[in-house]
Amino acid sequence: MTLTLLKFGGSSVGSAPALRRAAAIATSELPLGGVVVVSALKGTTDRLLEAALAAGAGDPASARARAEAIRAHHAEVADELGLSSAVEEAWGPLLHRLDALLEGMSLFGGASPRAKDELLSVGESLSARLVAALFVQSGLPARFRDAREALRTDGRHGAARPHLAATRRAAQVWKEDLDRGAVLVTQGFIAQGPDGATTTLGRGGSDTSATLLGEALKAAEVQIWTDVDGVLSADPSLVPSARPLSRLSQAEAAALSGFGAKVLHADSLAPASRSGFRLIVANTLKAGGARTEVLATRDAEGEGPVSVAYKEGLTLLRWPLDAKLPEVLRGVQELEEAGALRYGFISGPEGHALALRAEGSALAVLARLEEEGAEAESGWAVVALVGEGLRTDPRPALEALAGLKAPSGALLGSGGVSVAFLTREQSLPALIPALHARCVSDLAPIA
Ligand code: ADP
Ligand code: ASP
Ligand code: MG
Repeated sequence: MTLTLLKFGGSSVGSAPALRRAAAIATSELPLGGVVVVSALKGTTDRLLEAALAAGAGDPASARARAEAIRAHHAEVADELGLSSAVEEAWGPLLHRLDALLEGMSLFGGASPRAKDELLSVGESLSARLVAALFVQSGLPARFRDAREALRTDGRHGAARPHLAATRRAAQVWKEDLDRGAVLVTQGFIAQGPDGATTTLGRGGSDTSATLLGEALKAAEVQIWTDVDGVLSADPSLVPSARPLSRLSQAEAAALSGFGAKVLHADSLAPASRSGFRLIVANTLKAGGARTEVLATRDAEGEGPVSVAYKEGLTLLRWPLDAKLPEVLRGVQELEEAGALRYGFISGPEGHALALRAEGSALAVLARLEEEGAEAESGWAVVALVGEGLRTDPRPALEALAGLKAPSGALLGSGGVSVAFLTREQSLPALIPALHARCVSDLAPIA
């Protein structure tokens, strides 16, 4: 039997009308059953994190107010859908747990990464229970299944990495339901670590939940439903004229997401390239509109960049000129193990430099490397021009860069399907539209 898996992001489940559209999409896309992965309702994860921060900082009143706002918003949406009593039994324990976790964080004056993951899981669990109830109301043979039954990871809370063989084995418990044509509704973003505790895959990780489950269950197709017409030629918040791309190669999609295009989580392409299922990105607001199909390969003879991506909030770490490579590599490894994200690493006659995004425990490693002589400077961004054509001919991207003022720009590298460089983050609002106008919009295929 061929399996299709749908993923609905936060804005696709953010309101009653959006949820009704999601139910209509599931009804037409899953006539023989399948899996539906859902994110938390739009804004919920941010609010949960704010609540954890307030509780940990000794402000239980503010933490409670945020929990109450989450409860009230969910209750309002359920009421609008006529589902208040259908979700009551499943939501009760989740909301109790939310209060208890915040109480504990207030008492301890902080939140452990493990407790934070448990707290965050409440958002996805509330949402998946609501979607399951809505689908049943819509006549679908829907059933909630907890993602922690199937998705297994290591114990790195906040940025857990998948355990593929364990996930493949564990996911088989869903097979019986699927063979009977059920629509299984589950949480994105969360998984089970080796000790049974809840883990999360990093912000935006529901896309990766969907593709990992697609791989484990041997899906033929994974559809990512979001709030734009598929993958666009640039971030529409900086380039309103960005155009939908009808086809992308897996390498292009991986480069775009890796260099910051938020529409797909950076880790979501690896399962697609290992497993080979069809990956679609489509718009919940316009189900019949433009969409992107991500293919294993895409013919791109003579084409320049098709899209531009960027990531801000980076630190540039430079080692002293006389630093030895093994010492530098040890530092890079330690940073990565502490959860820092690496956007580029150059080692050459001018020294060694790493562009990274560091949070949490990676900041302590960064501080230590600074004490040992490395220099860290914040306020950087990486910009990448992406297109299959750049594999063989990076000139269109390099020519576009040559004519632009990219303050303090430093070429990071060209390899595979991208040409990437560093710039100061304040230059992004002018630079991205200029780059798009100069070399992307001329060459991008019109969908
Ligand atoms: P979801 O909640 O569905 O997971 P996200 O907010 O995570 O949605 O991702 C979709 C958003 O990604 C879009 O609304 C858009 O603002 C942003 N985005 C950034 N770069 C791109 C791009 N190249 N193509 C499409 N969307 C992009
Ligand atoms: N709800 C999580 C987040 O906001 C996961 C996701 O949306 O993919 O990051
Ligand atoms: Mg997302």
